[in-house]
Amino acid sequence: MEKVYTRQQLNFSHEVNLKEHFELFSNKVNFINDFSLEESEQDEEIFNLMGIKLKQDTKDLLKDTCSFEHLAESTLKTIPNDKKGMKKLHDSSLKHIPLEAKSLETIKNLEANVITKNRSVKEYTDFYVNGLKYRSQVEIDDTNFRHLENLKENDEILLFIRIYAPFRYIPGFKTSWIPRFSHEIIVSGSNTVQDFCKKILCPSDENVSYDISENPDNLQPTKGKYKSCLIFIHDTLYHNAKDSNYVDYSEVVMEFSKNLNYGVGPFKKELMDNVLFKDLKLKLGYPYMYQHQGDCEHLFTISDIRLIHSSDSLCSEDYPRFACASNKITRRCMMCGTKEACYIVRNCDRIPSDPAYMCEICFKSYLYIDGKKVGNFKAYVYFESSYVC
Ligand SMILES: [Zn+2]
Ligand SMILES: [Zn+2]
Repeated sequence: MEKVYTRQQLNFSHEVNLKEHFELFSNKVNFINDFSLEESEQDEEIFNLMGIKLKQDTKDLLKDTCSFEHLAESTLKTIPNDKKGMKKLHDSSLKHIPLEAKSLETIKNLEANVITKNRSVKEYTDFYVNGLKYRSQVEIDDTNFRHLENLKENDEILLFIRIYAPFRYIPGFKTSWIPRFSHEIIVSGSNTVQDFCKKILCPSDENVSYDISENPDNLQPTKGKYKSCLIFIHDTLYHNAKDSNYVDYSEVVMEFSKNLNYGVGPFKKELMDNVLFKDLKLKLGYPYMYQHQGDCEHLFTISDIRLIHSSDSLCSEDYPRFACASNKITRRCMMCGTKEACYIVRNCDRIPSDPAYMCEICFKSYLYIDGKKVGNFKAYVYFESSYVC
């Protein structure tokens, strides 16, 4: 696949054998939980682990310089609420920049965009808040810390997987499509690829693919009907076609990859419920793929892998779990303009636009009287992943 997405185009890591890498790493860092060690002995272990040999004075200086205490004061917390205070902040910010730091790109950017421009309090706040990298996503906590803690700190790995909204590719047409982040899932090393698959949210799973206008309260989403799916990670296609009720999506890709002219493959194939994440080999940042509901395809990337901390849920049943989701609601009700749309109405003689997107309240209050359909129209469920979270 690296002939298609090359290292020059994308920034991704070398291949990581998770089992090998994290077993070794877990053994090395287990001294962190050894409470019999003095702080100085722990520091010594950390320096040994990093392979650094320094004099005690230099170690003390390094420890002091890297202390968390230096992070205690946030710029955002000190934003004043009047013009005079802002002027003072600008002046003091300029005063405290050491000459040696002026060549740094971050300082140049700070001077050009923040300090030298006399911004109002609102502009200043907007500049920071809008510039925050993760502003467009909301954190989700669906852990249940009340469960039994059956995982040990540093004994399990967690993978952070970012799922992107589905995309459509038309052969022969170049697209300027940019992956749009949808949600992030945390899986543990002991989760199977199938566990991960079941957790992924997509509008096409929740959609109801038939006219619901006669009976809008008894809905059967497509998720329960069409269960076949495919995950591609590294060099393997993981499918769930255990019996004739499933379609094996990997077959056609395996066939396609046999033609060496396309420059993809060779691929292996495996059933996804047999494979644990900790047994995988993969590249961080590389675009892998999830396919379901026929041709609904999502890219996903593994953005981080680390050992489990005491601040994470130590209950294995909490994984996979959601970490965050995009906070963008793309479609609002055309009638009230405030709520999220959850129905698409077609060919309705009482609505001027076709299709019309409507929220639940507008849909049921305008198109039904005492639960009975008024006029002629067809209605379909409209679903956005942000509702579920
Ligand atoms: Zn999908
Ligand atoms: Zn509405």
